[in-house]
Amino acid sequence: MRKLAERKLLVATHNAGKLDEIRAMMAPHGIEVTSAGEMGLPEPVETEDTFIGNARIKARSAVEATGLPVLADDSGITVDGLDGAPGVYTADWAETPDGRDFMQAMTRTWRELDERGAPEPRTAQFRATLLLMWPDGHEEVFQGVAPGRLVWPPRGPHGHGYDPIFVPDGHDRTFAEMSADEKNAISHRADAFRKLEAALA
Ligand code: IMP
Repeated sequence: MRKLAERKLLVATHNAGKLDEIRAMMAPHGIEVTSAGEMGLPEPVETEDTFIGNARIKARSAVEATGLPVLADDSGITVDGLDGAPGVYTADWAETPDGRDFMQAMTRTWRELDERGAPEPRTAQFRATLLLMWPDGHEEVFQGVAPGRLVWPPRGPHGHGYDPIFVPDGHDRTFAEMSADEKNAISHRADAFRKLEAALA
């Protein structure tokens, strides 16, 4: 992988939780991290129909605004019985006039599987894409996946998004029934970060 000459990276996110996670991961590599949120950059509209395409939109917008190397991410869940939906539209399925409602999104997912008569196990994958873009447009992509199956009803108090209906392969508890540490060791994001870290080392 191409080296980060100045050991400085801008993370194209407005999410403080994601930023903390990435900052902690970069510190051992001597890489200083700032974020689009901290710099007051606008959030671009995600108009592509792939995770890489949307990560590229976020990365390019921040590169053009700052001239710094940028790390962007995009993630979601793909359900085999729904031909990969909701995929890049994972967050959109939760949108309501009053904000995001993931119970609505999970209910729709399970209902559509029922309507199609999808057999069990209802396999699905959480996916995370990390895209590193340099100021000259050079980019490198790291993709992570957590394979598993969906269950109903939702279970567990932890996590966020679709965690309460996702049981990762090799386990019988949902992501929402696991502690953050337990989930973070096997998650799609951890998988993508491990690949990025290996490339930075
Ligand atoms: P984004 O990458 O911030 O655009 O997030 C996309 C959406 O994917 C989130 O709003 C969540 O609904 C879903 N998602 C991504 N990662 C996870 C996860 O680890 N657990 C549950 N839902 C997730």
